[in-house]
Amino acid sequence: MAGQRWDGREAPGAGRRVREEEARAWAELVGTARRTVSDGLVVGTSGNVSVRVGGTVLVTPSGVPYDRLTPDDVTGVDLAGRQVLGSLVPTSELPLHLAVHRTTGARAVVHTHAVHATAVSTLVDELPLIHYMAAALGGPVRVARYATYGTDELAENMLRALDGRTGCLLQNHGTVTHGTTLAQAYDRTAQLEWMCRVWLTASSVPGLSPHLLSPRQVAEAAERLRGYGQRG
Ligand code: 13P
Ligand code: ZN
Repeated sequence: MAGQRWDGREAPGAGRRVREEEARAWAELVGTARRTVSDGLVVGTSGNVSVRVGGTVLVTPSGVPYDRLTPDDVTGVDLAGRQVLGSLVPTSELPLHLAVHRTTGARAVVHTHAVHATAVSTLVDELPLIHYMAAALGGPVRVARYATYGTDELAENMLRALDGRTGCLLQNHGTVTHGTTLAQAYDRTAQLEWMCRVWLTASSVPGLSPHLLSPRQVAEAAERLRGYGQRG
């Protein structure tokens, strides 16, 4: 309410009180996680989402259905992975999220098991340049070598695949994208899944194989995308 002071919400379990900005970010994080389910990018409790507020990274808890999450469930760690908010166990993919937050300017990370992207991750080392929207992810989207979920090895493989990109595929696993906001990270996941679907669709026509774009054509699109949308 306008003019009312925020006392901070008592987070049960580990750590300190939740700040107002963190409570707002948590609501947005839960909304984003729910959207990955309602848009069909994950099933059940697969996937995870994080958003950084200062030195605190809010993350979805491990194995909890997103529709059950309430404002009291705020789960946060510091950049070293120590839990500073909440009592729920953080996502098992904490190494992956923290690796992005530590090494890029990203504020938000979205991981999903989107069907077409996961299928593509089993077929190629790089998503062929089927569409200029690869430019929105920084260029040809690479596939990170397979490693067991939740491991430091998977986080390392992902960082290599992300070099110069805002998204990658995880072999036989799913997607990772990041952005300066949750909305941007989410949109990149949706675009990546859509591009994978286009490539699978075009390349499954018997007797035909799709024309691909050159790196130069994608670079030209990248240049043009800088001025895309409304002014300001
Ligand atoms: P969490 O429920 O621990 O976030 O794990 C889901 C997942 O996608 C692991 O890769
Ligand atoms: Zn996963």
